[in-house]
Amino acid sequence: VRRRSHWGWGYEDERPSADELRAAAAGLAAHLGFGSPEPEEPVPLEAVDLPAPRVALPTGLPLSQDPHARALHAHGRSYLDVVRGHRGRFPHAPDAVATPRDEDELRAVLEWAAAADLAVIPAGGGTSVTGGIDALPGAHAGAVTLSLRALDRVLAVDATSRAARIQAGATGPELERQLGEHGLTLRFFPQSFELSTLGGWIATRAAGHFATGPTHVDDLVESIRAITATGDVWESRRLPASGAGPSPDRLLLGSEGTLAVITEAWVRVLPRPSERRGASAAFPTFAGGAAAVRAIVQDGLRPANCRLIDAREAALTFAGDGGSALLVLGFESSGAPVGEQLARACALCEQHGGNVSEGREGAGGSWREAFLRAPYVRDTLVAMGVLSETFESAVTWDRLDTFVDHVVGATRAALGPEVLVTVRLTHAYPDGAAPYFTVVAPVARGDEEERWLAVKRAASEAVLAAGGTITHHHSVGRDHRPEYERQRPAPFAAALRAAKAALDPGSRLNPGVLFEAE
Ligand SMILES: Cc1cc2nc3c(=O)[nH]c(=O)nc-3n(C[C@H](O)[C@H](O)[C@H](O)COP(=O)(O)OP(=O)(O)OC[C@H]3O[C@@H](n4cnc5c(N)ncnc54)[C@H](O)[C@@H]3O)c2cc1C
Repeated sequence: VRRRSHWGWGYEDERPSADELRAAAAGLAAHLGFGSPEPEEPVPLEAVDLPAPRVALPTGLPLSQDPHARALHAHGRSYLDVVRGHRGRFPHAPDAVATPRDEDELRAVLEWAAAADLAVIPAGGGTSVTGGIDALPGAHAGAVTLSLRALDRVLAVDATSRAARIQAGATGPELERQLGEHGLTLRFFPQSFELSTLGGWIATRAAGHFATGPTHVDDLVESIRAITATGDVWESRRLPASGAGPSPDRLLLGSEGTLAVITEAWVRVLPRPSERRGASAAFPTFAGGAAAVRAIVQDGLRPANCRLIDAREAALTFAGDGGSALLVLGFESSGAPVGEQLARACALCEQHGGNVSEGREGAGGSWREAFLRAPYVRDTLVAMGVLSETFESAVTWDRLDTFVDHVVGATRAALGPEVLVTVRLTHAYPDGAAPYFTVVAPVARGDEEERWLAVKRAASEAVLAAGGTITHHHSVGRDHRPEYERQRPAPFAAALRAAKAALDPGSRLNPGVLFEAE
């Protein structure tokens, strides 16, 4: 069994050697112009001083107090989480980690947690970037993390309706491998695909690689099965669509482990694409490229990939020389020809001043490689003393240009002149787009938390002030709660609290996420 790295991305068996890490750091420092070429070593697990567990374990339940399991589930994988883990700091380690193998075991864990007055933190792949799985007890005597990772199977496939029933703890590769046996795919590829799970995607309303059309996991969910804190089953009827009142699925989508534990879902699947065509286009300005993206989606085209990358990000990812913005375009289908759609999108790019190169490789290929490697590179940046943070939003087209300028300006102002702030459009809709920002800056060892907080608050304030959402797909968790509370209508907040009180009367599930802890 492969063990996950207890502090960084990926698995222990793929950690670079000290020499490999030094070589990577030297290359990155030369490319960025800052960061130490002498990377700091992570604190080994044996040297970590975890807080003593506050509960004794009963026998007969799937519970563990193994240090690796407790450290792994102490927090998610935001920049700050990686810094803390790298330094061997796990103040929010759960008192125990439960890994039930079926719903009966899950219910038994919930019953034990209630009797022992523990908070329960549902967890999938643990890739939250918003403090969503920190094992904080709230008003309770301790916290147990409820990992869904043992529930990782595709249980049924309905090839006629093109849907599959999948357990919540399956990661991207695990569910794709099992669907592949039926010639099917979910084609949902968030950047965290390797480690994140179906249940986590549903609980956070994750967004995958489709830039248009079905972008959020919401669009792929047919029905959800969950267990409430009191052990009741919540299962919606499998339907292609329904107008029967408010949707039960919609209440669980984005509930972030606060209302119920999602155990499985029926999701819409596809045959693997047989037709794929791509191109890239260089634009003198980001705003020019954005105008082309708007023309493409408002023309009725629905490219699977439509990422507009600003000149700084193109240079950072070796996809460009820093002189132009880059649009990476891809169309795919499981039968229908896509050549005409690509030709029409390329013509629209040219009309908006784009210089088009056809083919899926070249600049687009370099950017894709950098995108896939990014979670691993971030671990190296942490070891080199480089702050690397991302945040994202969505805004209507009429405000996009001023929004981007405002957010980039405010983030730079918060960190000073050495900071690099890049932007890309990750998802495009007929009425707006989702801008995604990356911040890279040198940071003195020990100052990371303060600098990260400065970026987080400045960026979040700028996003809200300029009319965007506090998150398009990274979730609310704890880190975005202040802005989420300002964004959501007050009567809706009251309705959500009432739902929480009905479903989780002990306020045991993930206290402090989405709602103030009671
Ligand atoms: C490098 C990196 C890249 C990322 N890229 C993307 C991206 O492209 N798109 C995107 O949308 N997000 C992205 N994320 C954020 C993160 O991967 C998503 O939020 C993802 O959906 C979390 O899934 P998970 O299984 O890891 O959930 P976890 O991190 O374990 O949990 C996240 C939240 O969901 C709740 N939860 C998890 N499972 C369940 C369940 N079965 N029942 C009830 N509640 C549950 C938890 O309580 C918590 O509140 C990225 C994160 C990182 C670190």
